[in-house]
Amino acid sequence: MTPYLPSPLVAADPDALNGRVIAITGASDGIGKAVALAAAAHGAEVILLGRSVKKLEAVHAQVRERHGERSLMAVLDLEKAVARDYDQLADAVMSRYGRLEGLVHCAGLLGALSPVDHADVPTWCKVLHVNLTAPFVLTQVLLPALRAASDASVIFTTSSVGLQGRAYWGAYAASKAAIGNFAQTLAHELEGSTAVRVNTLNPGATRTRMRRQAFPSENAELLPEPAQVVAPYIALLAGTARDLTGLTLACQPSPTVSGAASAASGPASSAASSSVVN
Ligand code: NDP
Repeated sequence: MTPYLPSPLVAADPDALNGRVIAITGASDGIGKAVALAAAAHGAEVILLGRSVKKLEAVHAQVRERHGERSLMAVLDLEKAVARDYDQLADAVMSRYGRLEGLVHCAGLLGALSPVDHADVPTWCKVLHVNLTAPFVLTQVLLPALRAASDASVIFTTSSVGLQGRAYWGAYAASKAAIGNFAQTLAHELEGSTAVRVNTLNPGATRTRMRRQAFPSENAELLPEPAQVVAPYIALLAGTARDLTGLTLACQPSPTVSGAASAASGPASSAASSSVVN
């Protein structure tokens, strides 16, 4: 089976998300910010989730400038949030919209790349919390709102190291493997009895702060910008990929980066090797 999204899935029409309410974590930067901007550009009302008010305000202003009042900000630090914070967010979503058509998990933490001998235990716990436990809790509290929508999509952002462990990628790789497994569990539970679709998506090597942190010496100019990898997110959110519940998808790397992608060994450099997992 092809590891790349077939082209019909990546061609969402400009109004594909009209009337949909979509929450995005990590909306302050990188891929999450690009997904938020693209979702708003396709007509969605976006809930920008992040920990930095200043960065969220900048994205909010960008959405307003381009599309008018189409975004809301919600501050949620996934490392520090407690049950009350999640409940308040879920209550706010329900009272304002009464439903949620999309939940995109983009927030993520790389932690420190290191051999297992030297892996720092608190850092391990932090990475597992932000990349695995927090998305689980957020999804759980938002399930009633997702169930209330006539069609809804939950997307977990994963990585090739979540499919195949790699030396030095300990906590990050384990967290991505686990979130992929959790997504499958959730997909199986919701499939058939609800209109909630669940997928994981590997964006492929992308020019972001996290990628720079993992590969400080690579030529980032050869990597796609976040805006170039968001089309599959939009297709999944729009329901173009309605029959793909439970699948792990990999974005097609831009032709200009294929050389760099195959030479590197990063979290997403082998996007071409990841494929449908269930
Ligand atoms: P960035 O570092 O650019 O963005 C990470 C996002 O996560 C930021 O918005 C950041 O917020 C947010 N975040 C981190 N910690 C917290 C926290 N405690 N609470 C709330 N938000 C938090 O990384 P990318 O855009 O590259 O990563 C996005 C997703 O894509 C991640 O899940 C990553 O694992 C995945 N991915 C990325 C690849 C790549 O090549 N870039 C490849 C494969 C997967 P803030 O702005 O405040 O720091």
